[in-house]
Amino acid sequence: MGAQIFFENYSPIGDITTAAICIVIFILVATSYVKKTNAFYLFLNIVVYLLLACLTDLLYHTIYVRVTDGNYTAVYILRVVYHAFLFSNLLLYVVYIIVVQDLERSRSRLIRIAAMVIYFTVITIDVIYAVRGSGYKTNKSGDAMSAMNIFMYGYAAFMLLIAHLLLAYRKLFYRRIMFGFYGTIAMSFILLFNQGRHGHSSFTTVAFLFPVIAMLYILHSNPYDNIELGTVNARAFEDMVSSSYRKKKDFIFASLYLPELDVEGRSIPREIYESIRRFSIDFFKGAQLFQITNGHMILAAWTSLNPDYKYRLGRMLNAFQTEYMKYRYDYKIVIGSSIDEVSRTNEGLSFIRNIHRGMKINDIHRVSAEDVEAFKETKYIIEELVDIFKKKDLNDPRVLVFCQPVYNIKNGRYDTAEALMRLELPKTGMVYPDRFIPLAEEYGFIHVLTEILLNKTCKAIKAFLDEGYDFKRISVNVSSLEMRDDEFNNDMNRIILESGIPDNKIAFEITESQSEMDFMLLKSKINELKGRGIKFYLDDFGTGYSNMERILELPFDIIKFDKSLVIASDNNERSRMMVESLADMFARTNYSVLYEGIETESDEERCINMSASYLQGYKYSRPVPINELKAFLSNCHLFHT
Ligand code: C2E
Ligand code: CA
Ligand code: CA
Repeated sequence: MGAQIFFENYSPIGDITTAAICIVIFILVATSYVKKTNAFYLFLNIVVYLLLACLTDLLYHTIYVRVTDGNYTAVYILRVVYHAFLFSNLLLYVVYIIVVQDLERSRSRLIRIAAMVIYFTVITIDVIYAVRGSGYKTNKSGDAMSAMNIFMYGYAAFMLLIAHLLLAYRKLFYRRIMFGFYGTIAMSFILLFNQGRHGHSSFTTVAFLFPVIAMLYILHSNPYDNIELGTVNARAFEDMVSSSYRKKKDFIFASLYLPELDVEGRSIPREIYESIRRFSIDFFKGAQLFQITNGHMILAAWTSLNPDYKYRLGRMLNAFQTEYMKYRYDYKIVIGSSIDEVSRTNEGLSFIRNIHRGMKINDIHRVSAEDVEAFKETKYIIEELVDIFKKKDLNDPRVLVFCQPVYNIKNGRYDTAEALMRLELPKTGMVYPDRFIPLAEEYGFIHVLTEILLNKTCKAIKAFLDEGYDFKRISVNVSSLEMRDDEFNNDMNRIILESGIPDNKIAFEITESQSEMDFMLLKSKINELKGRGIKFYLDDFGTGYSNMERILELPFDIIKFDKSLVIASDNNERSRMMVESLADMFARTNYSVLYEGIETESDEERCINMSASYLQGYKYSRPVPINELKAFLSNCHLFHT
């Protein structure tokens, strides 16, 4: 090995490119919001080992060509180190696959042992070669060739192990992800094979890069949703919350929710985006914007960078009011600082959503300790709702039926009533509908609750009838969400039928719904149930976006004028005339008008003069447990015998 010769076709270009790409990966990872799981840290280590391998390979070839005195010790050592880095990379790759597969320790033991055995065997043989100075062999023309064989055997062994791992536990993988890994491994193989055929060694590290790209793209990428704003999504927000908790760095946030825009197909208009972007730059240092859903954005910034955040928040809210005058979308704003108790379990987003859910529209809410308590209660209620949903017991003792008697003006009797739901939960006691109905609707549990309530109401009606009570019907509230379900009518029919009461003892109250699709569906469902003698009430008239044409096209029997109209009619003459003529119009077109929220004698008198047929409110009775309703009903056995 006297002369200075290249013992292989080597050009530094492969190692330089790979090293550069590793650095690019670090830059990308540092500037995007990636979920920092164990697999992610393993991934980073894999990239680090690859980078180190590139650098040692470069160094070892650089030194090799400069050896003039025949002393190759440094070259031998660097070569072993280079191989060790590459095999550490492969070893971590095996661990990585085990981690992302979430394999139990016991099942992955053999594989981990096999990986270690291959790893140490390869390194040991490599070291022995180096010590004996037999790392190279000379070919016929006197050129030095590196003894690559042990490297290739080791590499092949690792690939077999990884292929086995992917195959044996393929059920733990989403198929496409598995093919992503296989595809990139196959490309690495093809590259190494072809490089070997051409007697090259420049692109070894390039082949190691392919799996890294697969990991980055498939599992650790989290690109920005909106390039202009630099917003990232809900997952990124959760990651920010959990890392703030780990690093004990507090943050402040402002959450903006625009309910009208928070529907599929809509998004926050460009002008508003522009102002939000300005807000994040003008009022806070180092702020990040998160786009949670179409109509929900959160702005967050580290408290340490904005010690005067109270002042900054105040200025931002002022600016918001000015902007709001231009667009006037309904909003809900929540502002506050990070709370350890919430961040620990990474529930920041659910926490904020819970506040939005409970607050008034066009209001600004500052987070307090009470919100944490309310959040805990919400979680508890959801747990109980899940349990009620799972058990699907139509007699579930946690669902209570309360009833509010309704006064019939014509005969001066209480011959109808409204059923109102309450929950009685072990830890919290009685829970009122405003607390659990929105949750049940959001999480899809509302229909089970309605079924239980209807079943209990029917049973009570059956008992009343058997005991000789005389009344027309009890109305049950149903949510427009559950009416969309194809099975709705069947479910209701079955429960009424099984209870053995006449269909006409039940009525349903529904509120107006906005969408066109709902309307046609609703109409056919109402007509079918009406055919069986079930009456329909339009609930909360005057609170929605009343569309007269549609209301008149649905076959309602009773229009329930919302309490807000009763209050308005007391405010001034104009409002009174408005309510009066609306009621009059309904009355003359064969609807019955019911006024809700009658609290005083003056309410009663005014509403009687405004075409009322029925009156309901605290003046007559608060909602009472359904059994106590008997006190309001007339009984033919008691009075007429
Ligand atoms: P709603 O259907 O409009 O029910 C009337 C609400 O007004 C009841 O509240 C009742 O207690 C209250 N109320 C009655 N008279 C007066 C009064 O004179 N003054 C005042 N200020 N309030 C009065 P509740 O029971 O808390 O129910 C609230 C809402 O929860 C109901 O409004 C309804 O939308 C919903 N809800 C209740 N039970 C059910 C149910 O079984 N299913 C569904 N889907 N929703 C229900
Ligand atoms: Ca109602
Ligand atoms: Ca109502």
